[in-house]
Amino acid sequence: MTIYRNLAIAALSAVAALSWGVTAKVCIDPGHGGSDPGAVGNGQQEKTNVLNTALKFKAWLDKDTQDANGGGSWNIVMTRSTDVDVSLQGRCDIANNNNCNRFMSIHNNAASNSSANGTETFSYSAPNTASNLRDKIQTRMIEAWNRTNRGVKTASYYVLRYTNMPATLSELAFITNAGDAVYTGGSSWQDLAGKAHMFALQNHYGLAAYTPQTAQTYIVDNGGSGFSASSNWFASTSVSGYYGSNYHARATAAVSDPAQWTANIATSGNYQIYAWWTAASNRAPSAPYVLPNGTTVNVNQQANGGKWNLLGTVSLSAGARTTKLSCWTTSGYYVIADAIKYYGPN
Ligand SMILES: [Zn+2]
Repeated sequence: MTIYRNLAIAALSAVAALSWGVTAKVCIDPGHGGSDPGAVGNGQQEKTNVLNTALKFKAWLDKDTQDANGGGSWNIVMTRSTDVDVSLQGRCDIANNNNCNRFMSIHNNAASNSSANGTETFSYSAPNTASNLRDKIQTRMIEAWNRTNRGVKTASYYVLRYTNMPATLSELAFITNAGDAVYTGGSSWQDLAGKAHMFALQNHYGLAAYTPQTAQTYIVDNGGSGFSASSNWFASTSVSGYYGSNYHARATAAVSDPAQWTANIATSGNYQIYAWWTAASNRAPSAPYVLPNGTTVNVNQQANGGKWNLLGTVSLSAGARTTKLSCWTTSGYYVIADAIKYYGPN
């Protein structure tokens, strides 16, 4: 009965954390280090493998935190980020003193019999919040590496026993097995293990598995592909500070006749859109840029020339997305079409 009540409380707190959008503080513990190489085999040292894997795991979580389009927000504490000695109690102290919400230890397995192989993941006891995370790590690791599934287990490992928060210990695979060692020591496999642990953490906190995207920059210049304008627009270099080799200009008039910058956006998400122009007193004080979502942003092109100026942040789906500059504004001026930059998703 007590067990079931504790389970219900644990489930409730996980849901509450999600609905409040709480940032989870996660302690990542690469096993061994410094004078302790951990297990060795197939030309590899466990301390190096697990540090590299843990740093890749951290990088994934940092990317997930940067990308607001999915996944979670993570505050990472490392028990070590370099090849140094940290005692078992020292590792627990780091997690406990930082009030981390979860502790995740990363190891490679070893056996005197080199045929032993596969993936297993530990918690101190079960069922509880720790074993919930443990189970998800195991599932995601099998999915990522597809090594022998040795299952989920409980063990009285020091770092599982003396950390105050739900804690897991991943034995990714056997460094002493030639087949497994391809995975434990392979950089791209380590990266996939890091990603698998991120997916497990996302799922554990009730989030769908999400691969964060790296923000990209797309620049469309008036001299390059993706730009179009009618022949009423003329190329010029008479005012300095242009982007690339020149800019286009057009006299303002009571027609739209827009210059257009189209970028092929690879990934949907939020993008910052910036405009570059050359400033002079004959420029339109209210030049109307029309963003891909239809919003018009009026800028004073008599100032802020020769640099990127933020027009706004818009949600873009993947595909060809166009920003326009209309010439329909106060008569007697020029509108300047130089370059547009899209930056995202973020
Ligand atoms: Zn170890």
